[in-house]
Amino acid sequence: MSQDIRTRLIHHDYVAPAEFESPVVPVHKASTVFFPDVAALRSRRWVDKSGYTYGLHGTPTTFTLEARLATLEHARHVLLAPSGLSALNVVNQALLSSGDALLLPDNVYFPSRDMARHELARWGIAHRVYDALDPTTLDAALGPDVKLVWLEAPGSVTLEFPDLRALVRRCRERAPQAVLALDNTWGAGLAFNPFALGEEGLGVDLTIHALTKYPSGGGDVLMGSIACLDDALHERLAWTHSRLGLGVGANDAEALLRSLPSLALRYHAQDQAARRIAEWAQGQSAVRRVLHPALPGSPGHAHWAGLCTAAAGLLTLEIDPRHSVEQVNALVDGLQCFRIGWSWGGPVSLAVPYQARFMRELPTPYEGVLVRLCIGLESVDDLIVDLAAGLARLG
Ligand SMILES: *Cc1c(COP(=O)(O)O)cnc(C)c1O
Repeated sequence: MSQDIRTRLIHHDYVAPAEFESPVVPVHKASTVFFPDVAALRSRRWVDKSGYTYGLHGTPTTFTLEARLATLEHARHVLLAPSGLSALNVVNQALLSSGDALLLPDNVYFPSRDMARHELARWGIAHRVYDALDPTTLDAALGPDVKLVWLEAPGSVTLEFPDLRALVRRCRERAPQAVLALDNTWGAGLAFNPFALGEEGLGVDLTIHALTKYPSGGGDVLMGSIACLDDALHERLAWTHSRLGLGVGANDAEALLRSLPSLALRYHAQDQAARRIAEWAQGQSAVRRVLHPALPGSPGHAHWAGLCTAAAGLLTLEIDPRHSVEQVNALVDGLQCFRIGWSWGGPVSLAVPYQARFMRELPTPYEGVLVRLCIGLESVDDLIVDLAAGLARLG
């Protein structure tokens, strides 16, 4: 080898000893991955994680994160995407072609519906909505053109918990060709097992997570995942994922690996805090309805109770319709602990007002302004004081 310092600063005989171990998985950064010879370059496979080929297709850091997420979700395969929304998009692009249709629950995460209305519609893919609380509404929507059915539990913002078992059973009976996909961001792998919804073989085919929420837990990382059991489905998703050129940053993957050990502690603490606030809010005269799946009387509570052992730290208050949008905005503006912002699952509690009539295609019972609360890690007593002062300001 040349003795030129420019070459020796790149190529060197010294190799650091193997078997360095510490609690944290190292951050492996790469676009280029070296192969010992051309035969290895030709034969290595990343799709089953048996080898490294290119940074975009996996590093020890991302493969480890994928394996831990597969364990969390009771899945066999996991792919990482740069955001939860891009994970949804991988599934749509992998499974749908021009002339196909997909079904969405009417209370779906809004950007998912927006993707169907814009990109998917332009590509000749139709979407139809069903009422997640009424599985019979699937009947009119399920046809031979339906290749993908999205499920979400609970619904976005309004938090209705569907009868997932009934929805899955009906789809399997009437549209055996359709892949059943669950957005399991709320369940975070901890509330229930979506691949085993009770009876033998009754489960969804794949799930996506916005790792941005609870798995990150910091309000600082954007990432998504796609999990499945079936090898052939995984390969289909993995090839589309690869052709779309999606990758995640090594430091972001490491941030996720650091957050996962505390996921269950945080999830359960935020669950307990949200339940306490939901019970308190039920007794407040300005609150018409408290939406929280673990609260008796909340839409779909029985379905939640029949399936779940936990709930996420989200709740929504329907403010009495006698209070105007402006009054409710002022309530939210004046909160001290709760900050105004999107997303959830981080340490800071968040509040966002919504109006149901702008969010749904099907009729909803919500006439009052909705305030979606995401509970962080502050003292619950402080959060209740903050909300009580806000409700008092309504007059
Ligand atoms: C936040 C969220 C997403 C999207 O995640 P991003 O990482 O923000 O793109 C998808 N589905 C649900 C249910 C979410 O809450």
